[in-house]
Amino acid sequence: MQNYSAFSLFKQALGGHAGWQRQWRSPEPKAEYDVIIVGAGGHGLATAHYLAKEHGITNVAVVEKGWLGGGNTGRNTTIIRSNYLFDESAALYEHALKLWEGLSQDLNYNVMYSPRGVLMLAHNIHDVQSFKRHVHANRLNGIDNEWLSAEECKEFCPPLNIGAMRYPILGGALQRRGGTARHDAVAWGYARAADARGVDIIENCEVTGIRRGVNGAVEGVETSRGFIRAKKVGVSAAGHTSVIMSMAGVRLPLESYPLQALVSEPVKPAFPCVVMSNTIHAYISQSDKGEMVIGAGTDAYTSYSQRGALHIASHTLDAICELVPMFRRLRMLRNWGGIVDVTPDRSPIIAKTPVPGLYVNCGWGTGGFKATPGSGNVFAWTIARDEPHKINAPFTIERFRDGILIDEAAAAAVAH
Ligand SMILES: Cc1cc2nc3c(=O)[nH]c(=O)nc-3n(C[C@H](O)[C@H](O)[C@H](O)COP(=O)(O)OP(=O)(O)OC[C@H]3O[C@@H](n4cnc5c(N)ncnc54)[C@H](O)[C@@H]3O)c2cc1C
Repeated sequence: MQNYSAFSLFKQALGGHAGWQRQWRSPEPKAEYDVIIVGAGGHGLATAHYLAKEHGITNVAVVEKGWLGGGNTGRNTTIIRSNYLFDESAALYEHALKLWEGLSQDLNYNVMYSPRGVLMLAHNIHDVQSFKRHVHANRLNGIDNEWLSAEECKEFCPPLNIGAMRYPILGGALQRRGGTARHDAVAWGYARAADARGVDIIENCEVTGIRRGVNGAVEGVETSRGFIRAKKVGVSAAGHTSVIMSMAGVRLPLESYPLQALVSEPVKPAFPCVVMSNTIHAYISQSDKGEMVIGAGTDAYTSYSQRGALHIASHTLDAICELVPMFRRLRMLRNWGGIVDVTPDRSPIIAKTPVPGLYVNCGWGTGGFKATPGSGNVFAWTIARDEPHKINAPFTIERFRDGILIDEAAAAAVAH
């Protein structure tokens, strides 16, 4: 793999940048692999990378129905944080955050991780109590999170309006290590690193069936490019997980909704951090290009439409213009939706399934980008060893049968 460095950039510049290699190959599918990962989003590609790097399993294919990173990985608002309430979630997201901190070096690829601070605004007494509880719980888990008064929020993020309004700012919880990363670069960086270790990334290859043998175990996947044999199949297909798992006869407690996002025209640096408001379901940060990246809510109904409804974005913008009055003069350029798969407790499933050889990583709902390195890391462990890592051991399918929920839905107290 070609090494990226200041020196190689200089050298290539002298040659008119004609000497850069392709970042990954475009191989034909082989007849058989040790492991097939379904879905070349960040999670699937990270899983392949860690399978190869940490477990020495390199005879791996990542099969993708569209193009690499074209699902939610390329559609999200890139917010990264680890200040979740429950111990299990905190451990999982903090594992990811620690990997984010060294990811560009690990992949030799600049994923533009930017720990500019994530400020979660409290608009009512309930938010204040809930966020203070989060702050205390996080500190017990060794995770940074601090409470700011309304004035301190304004000092940290000067464009905020802390005057009287429909959703007044009563304070906020700040995780300074939280921030953003460039989502495309995450997919590309993992793809390049996995490819360099021998993983085949096969785009335009839709999984249309999962073949099981007489003993019930997985034998491989039917695809639009023919049958590919493998004794282990890991599904990382975000909003389409229930469709794929039903091919193997596995029913999961998932619902799929379009989640909305939009960006403004680019402007000079004006917004220094990430601001989230669970109450109005708005997420704001400024990209390096200068666009305000804004996340809104989910549609109120299940769907596989990636367009999303305009009235959701419009409702969010109404509230955002009160929170940050200077945004009233911005023009919005694009809006889109991505299909998120939501579990009843809003925590993911990263687990073995009742089908031998079939593993699933899903249920990230509105917040799986931040987990990408950690999720891929423990999913690779689970597939390689046929048992969960201690971090993902609680994130089973059976917790919904046994009532051992990790109820971040109740903890966040918003209709995700
Ligand atoms: C608008 C929006 C904003 C978001 N904002 C944030 C945020 O700020 N922070 C955060 O942490 N998370 C956020 N998320 C959630 C986050 O994007 C996802 O949880 C995460 O990206 C999921 O990654 P993935 O790799 O599992 O899924 P994806 O990137 O969706 O990858 C799954 C892949 O599977 C492929 N696939 C599906 N079916 C098949 C098939 N039959 N055969 C082969 N391939 C198939 C798809 O084409 C897709 O490429 C947001 C999501 C959306 C939609």
